Amino acid sequence: MIYEWQNAPKAQFAVIGDPVSHSLSPKMHEAAYKHLGLDHRYVAIRVPPNEVTDALNHLTQLGYLGVNVTLPNKEMAFGWASSKDPISQTLGVCNTLRIQTGEGINTDVPGFVRSIEGIAFASGSVLVMGAGGSAKAIIHALSGTGWEIKVWNRTAQRAEAMIKQLSVSAEILDEPNLQGVSLVVNTTSASLQDDQLPIENQWGTADRDLYVVDIAYGDGPTRVMRSAEEHGYRTMDGRRMLMEQGALSFEYWLDQDAPREAMLEALSSE
Ligand code: NDP
Repeated sequence: MIYEWQNAPKAQFAVIGDPVSHSLSPKMHEAAYKHLGLDHRYVAIRVPPNEVTDALNHLTQLGYLGVNVTLPNKEMAFGWASSKDPISQTLGVCNTLRIQTGEGINTDVPGFVRSIEGIAFASGSVLVMGAGGSAKAIIHALSGTGWEIKVWNRTAQRAEAMIKQLSVSAEILDEPNLQGVSLVVNTTSASLQDDQLPIENQWGTADRDLYVVDIAYGDGPTRVMRSAEEHGYRTMDGRRMLMEQGALSFEYWLDQDAPREAMLEALSSE
């Protein structure tokens, strides 16, 4: 069930976005409350970008404690927050707010880092595909961790502008190239449209231990994941990243450990 912000119900937590009907956050957070026996409610609320400030002020008055922010509202949420963590300040976006105090943080970045911790390989060369909001967060997360970063985007100028803005050291590729790469992270929206990505013709040049992560998630593996799996490569979709950012938001709001397995289980049953 989706609410318009003017009709927001009595609850403690929410995700705001437009559209927001696809969000799995209510299911994931409600599973966490159920697992721990907490009497909280988490709802999905549609908020158009030009109404973010009014909506957040309204939710504050209603007594909401915490809000997750999804597309396209993360920049507006950054503008609304009166205090922000260093990651949010670097990226200019917040995805998690403590609305009674006006504090904002970014849990997408540490959530991504935690999501790949379970992938056992040495750092090496990572190819990030895309130059949108999530690519920016992921490249920021990877910078300074020892990975050699390569970036490919359909529109090369956007990749150049992103790297310049982040002030990170990264090689921008005109064509994606898998030689010497041990991790691919697809952040493009190609998966949402089931579109082919150019790396799908290049598996023959990849190392055998290549790991392919697609941060999108849907019904089963995405197109690029299926292609990688057919060629014997290991893959992971975006559910673990979603779970980790949600768990970090949960812990920020409630100051107790999040039940990560129960949250992941709620996403996996989708
Ligand atoms: P943006 O709209 O900011 O960026 C989209 C990117 O995808 C751009 O680089 C764009 O290239 C590229 N792109 C779009 N269509 C194609 C295509 N057909 N072929 C190649 N490249 C394409 O989106 P976000 O970065 O916010 O989100 C991207 C994906 O990440 C979505 O699938 C989203 O669901 C997922 N996501 C997952 C999260 C998680 O927690 N797991 C969190 C956030 C996002 P160009 O610049 O040329 O237009």
